Amino acid sequence: MPYGFSFDLSSISKSFFRELAMVAQRRKLHRRLGVGARNLAEKFRLSEITGLDVPDALLLVEDLIDIHVQNVSEKERFTETQKRALFLPHCSRKYMDSRCQATFDSSLPSYQCGHCSPDCLVNRATALGEKKGYDVYVLPGGSCVQGILKKKQYEGVVGVACSQELKMGGHCLQNIGLAGQAVPLVKNGCANTSFSFRSLEKIL
Ligand code: SF4
Ligand code: SF4
Repeated sequence: MPYGFSFDLSSISKSFFRELAMVAQRRKLHRRLGVGARNLAEKFRLSEITGLDVPDALLLVEDLIDIHVQNVSEKERFTETQKRALFLPHCSRKYMDSRCQATFDSSLPSYQCGHCSPDCLVNRATALGEKKGYDVYVLPGGSCVQGILKKKQYEGVVGVACSQELKMGGHCLQNIGLAGQAVPLVKNGCANTSFSFRSLEKIL
């Protein structure tokens, strides 16, 4: 399920994401999540720069912190996995219309990138994932994850999506005991979205 608001963190300073990771580490010790999120949002003028109102900005930061915390706590288990899948969001494709040359397998369901555009984020992520030995799926929605995981046997999963989708996916993985890592979108909106390719590289 998407947020009820759009956000674009691509112009926020990189140190915001560094500090976010540090707050997530501290949260493991102190669990003072609310304070950490508010301080971060204020320090980096999140509302001012993104146009989000304060409650939405806080919700977004809290979700990003939760995802970091989850990544850290799952990292060791994930590193030990062999057979892995990478789930990419269809909304990060360069084109969302007939110019996208991806094929769609309705039996999964998932797109498979046709590599029409070298500068497409999904193309680059697909190539990287396949090079690292992942089965790569470009999903039309988070609800497809469960079906794919029932059909295919994986030990580890990496998901790229907006933070709310990732949190729901994380619960689903926990229920079936799979180790996962997540890369949140820095720009949502269900079209022309983006994520940090560098963050994905580090996780893969
Ligand atoms: S590179 Fe792949 S995902 Fe991107 S627009 Fe082309 S076919 Fe679609
Ligand atoms: S922003 Fe992308 S990942 Fe999030 S709900 Fe929309 S389509 Fe799905």
